[in-house]
Amino acid sequence: MALAHVLGVPRIGPNRELKFAQESYWRGEIDEAAVRDVASGIRQANWRRQHAAGLDFVTVGDFAFYDQMLNHVALLGCAPERFGFGAAIGLPEYFQLARGNDACHAMEMTKWFDTNYHYLVPEFKPDTQFSLGTGWLFDEVAEAQTAGFEAKPVLIGPLTFLWLGKEKTAGFDRLDLLDRLLPVYAQILARLKAQGVQWVQVDEPILALDLPAAWRSAFERAYHALNGAGVKLLLASYFGPLRENLLVALKLPVAGVHVDCVRGGDELSQVIDWLPATKILSAGVIDGRNIWKTDLAAVFDRFEGLHQRLGDRLWLAPSCSLLHVPVSLANETKLDAEIKSWLAYAEEKIAALATLKAAFNAGRQAVAAGLAGNAQALASRRQSKRVHDAAIAARLAALTSLHDARNSPFTIRQATQRARFRLPAFPTTTIGSFPQTSDIRSARARFRKGELSEADYTAAMQREIGHAVERQEALGLDVLVHGEAERNDMVEYFGEQLAGFAFSQNGWVQSYGSRCVKPPIIYGDVSRPLPMTVGWTRYAQSLTRKPMKGMLTGPMTMLQWSFVRDDQPRATTALQIALAIRDEVVDLEAAGIGIIQIDEPAYREGLPLRKTDWPAYLDWASRAFRISASGVNDATQIHTHMCYSEFNDILSAIAAMDADVITIETSRSDMELLRGFGDFSYPNEIGPGVYDIHSPRIPDTADMTRLLEKASQVIAPDQLWVNPDCGLKTRGWAETETALANMVAAARVLRSRTCLA
Ligand code: GLN
Ligand code: ZN
Repeated sequence: MALAHVLGVPRIGPNRELKFAQESYWRGEIDEAAVRDVASGIRQANWRRQHAAGLDFVTVGDFAFYDQMLNHVALLGCAPERFGFGAAIGLPEYFQLARGNDACHAMEMTKWFDTNYHYLVPEFKPDTQFSLGTGWLFDEVAEAQTAGFEAKPVLIGPLTFLWLGKEKTAGFDRLDLLDRLLPVYAQILARLKAQGVQWVQVDEPILALDLPAAWRSAFERAYHALNGAGVKLLLASYFGPLRENLLVALKLPVAGVHVDCVRGGDELSQVIDWLPATKILSAGVIDGRNIWKTDLAAVFDRFEGLHQRLGDRLWLAPSCSLLHVPVSLANETKLDAEIKSWLAYAEEKIAALATLKAAFNAGRQAVAAGLAGNAQALASRRQSKRVHDAAIAARLAALTSLHDARNSPFTIRQATQRARFRLPAFPTTTIGSFPQTSDIRSARARFRKGELSEADYTAAMQREIGHAVERQEALGLDVLVHGEAERNDMVEYFGEQLAGFAFSQNGWVQSYGSRCVKPPIIYGDVSRPLPMTVGWTRYAQSLTRKPMKGMLTGPMTMLQWSFVRDDQPRATTALQIALAIRDEVVDLEAAGIGIIQIDEPAYREGLPLRKTDWPAYLDWASRAFRISASGVNDATQIHTHMCYSEFNDILSAIAAMDADVITIETSRSDMELLRGFGDFSYPNEIGPGVYDIHSPRIPDTADMTRLLEKASQVIAPDQLWVNPDCGLKTRGWAETETALANMVAAARVLRSRTCLA
């Protein structure tokens, strides 16, 4: 008999109950007991669902008030010393670690592997101590047991916990802390055993990464130390194949292993070959990273033989925690019925798991109706005319190398563009958005609800554009923008106008803390039926003689921040989006817009977890960008923008995008990052951000002059642009105007001091 379980489920609640409770607690409207009640309600409902679906365990410890890594910081008694909290912390202290307090800035946050979930980064020093800290996990196990469930707690494994943290002092290696950490893990396991727990899931997703040898070999030592606790350990890896870590993982002294059969499916036969005869195998057969229905019959066919061999040593599971998908389709009352029939959120994935388990244990006939329904949904998706558009396929097939290159090399384009725009040295510009005032937001909301007519809405947005243009003229900026007042979100705004995109009503996924995102769903071939930005941009250009920069979101960012279809390679979907953007770029050019920016803030985020997979990704990613940008003449200047700080390892791929100008975030690192651009001799023009728009601090002219001078030392001054780090939509007008006035003044100082050849 095959068993079934999940690695974790969403904790936000079906209607984001946790978010609303947390936020009212932070505002002081409700007390701790009230937030805890909401949390307990969410956990209980999650367990009931797993139990009712016939799963063999309920997963405990996947709940977190803010983040699972922060839970472990609390559990392992290693809150950063700078907060002065001691080992066991309560909920108020827990939130202070996450959000900061008057005396201490919050713990740093970063992306969880290649997901859009952000975790809090543990801080390590040579003298960091661990001890059994906050005991919420044990309380939750008791809570599940009291409710009558078989609890399978989940822990982040010691090596993943250390790996994801950061050394806060130089000259030591956080792996050295392992020997201090293991006894605390052993204590935790002993305590869980004392509570009557049989199985503990220990997540070690770093097994899907390139690991230094010291880390790989530390696994054996670590798990030998934990093996003695007397509970059965299920070592879980996910998000990718194990590759050179495969043998290490399979030989560890644990009772079972979980592998991701969606992303790591190709190595399944190796896993089976090497699986010791006593170990259980948890097969992650349902995609935990996407919202499409799984082909249940295909899974059955693939695993039937294995089930006959392994019997109850085969467990069925989603590939990873369901944290990365929305909660339930039950709340999607407006989503188009046909598209909805192709989808599975967390609840539906649990139901699919139940069907699969029954198919293995009671025979396909026992769940014939469920399997037939599943097959029908998949067939409808495969055959739908809304998914497949022959014209788009033909267009893709006709792409040649002519489509992904500009007409002339950069130096020729540069000369043509310089003759056309006659910009001063150190030209000034901004990244696109201007402050999104409450007036703007309310006009957009009223228009959406039908309370504002199209004509009134257009007039309101044109007033905003007029205001933004007037301010930029007064400030003396050289290349203007329209301000993006009409845009709610840089992906949604375009997705709503493109064929092949759908928008859910309630498809929320936790991004960090109480923040959730609702990614668009790319379900079909993408194309652009009508111009998307030409009207607004042309209007903006009509108000000024200075060049107006058109503003678009690039194909890789559209892809990265959406749920992407799984029935064709991501690269194909990227090319379709690239062609849609290309159409817009060409139309903007025809409308007289001479400078067009294609934003790619998520370009780097799409990088595969393994370095050996980078070149292939960067090859199609940069090609997609070039296809979007290359339909125009030499005289049209293409900008791109990226807002993060690690460029140095992908500089050649950034250069391969061949944008005429790239604007990037650099001010927070004091221009240090630019050194990479200098060493690499980045060939095109660059605007290193000189104004950190994430901070309320207004930089003065001297600050920005200093940054620009630093930049001039590594980049040829005639390649440099002057701009903020990112868009200004979260800032207010007053601070924006002061900062930009200072920025323009800094550019003037540079012009007066620098003699350009
Ligand atoms: N053009 C966008 C803006 O200014 C860019 C946003 C981003 O880089 N994330 O808001
Ligand atoms: Zn940005």
